Parts: sequence; structure tokens; C-alpha cells
Amino acid sequence: MAPIRFFDTREELHHYASSALVRCPRCDRLAHREHRPGTADRAAQWRVICRSCGLARVRGQVKRCTDVEPLWLTADTRHGTVWAYNLEHLTRLRDFVAADLREHAPWYEHEHRRMTYVARLPAWLKSAGNRTEILRTIDRLRASVVTP
Ligand SMILES: [Zn+2]
Repeated sequence: MAPIRFFDTREELHHYASSALVRCPRCDRLAHREHRPGTADRAAQWRVICRSCGLARVRGQVKRCTDVEPLWLTADTRHGTVWAYNLEHLTRLRDFVAADLREHAPWYEHEHRRMTYVARLPAWLKSAGNRTEILRTIDRLRASVVTP
């Protein structure tokens, strides 16, 4: 059987951070946090929207997306915490963990390599011995969003 390959497409973490699944600060159910870039008349904002309880909260002037609202997609394993901002991020992480071969373009060997999201993932996530447990955790997290 051919090995499963993973190619680092070089997204950085903030690529995923702009749209996050979070725990609603009011009702504790699944809510969305979005970054809206600034315009000529408005500073950049973070918005938290909850369809369960109708919460719509705007935070302006926040430079970084520090975790004011706890992330929804987070789970502890025996090795460390698996987490993702959103389902795209979680899928990317799953593909990475499941891969037998992890590749990247030869031309970004040095400074760029450390900047990408997958290049910064901790060693325990890359260990083949932890793979089954981590994939199970990721699938459980995905089900917590997809299942009604
Ligand atoms: Zn809510």
C-alpha cells in the first residue's frame, strides 16, 4: 500500500485563528468567533455569535486573539492537548497526524520552515506510537460539531 503523504502548504496559525469555534460565554454551547479586518472607518473587530442563545458580542481593539472564549475543539490526551480553531484546521491536523510521509518544498528549508503551522507542531503529535489515540481524539472532536 502506498504511504499516505502530507504536504505542508505553509499556512500559519493565524490563517485558522480568524474563524474559531468557541464555547459560548453565556450558554456554554457552540458559538463562532470571527475576525473582521478593519476598514477606513472601523478598527478590526472580533465578533462572537451564538445561534443557540442569540449572543452577538463585538470586541474591538483586540490585537491578538487571546482566548477570551475557550475553544470548542480541544481535548486532552495522555500526551498533550489536541486543539484546533475550526474544522478546516482540525482536518488539516488530522491529515498531518495520519500521514506516513511529511513533505515540504525544498526551497523553504530554513527560516520559513519554522514559521508554518505544521512545522511547529510538537513531537508527540508526530509520533507513530500515539497516532491511533490522537486520531480517535480528533474524530471525537469533529463529531461534537457535526452531530446535532
Ligand atoms: Zn450561547
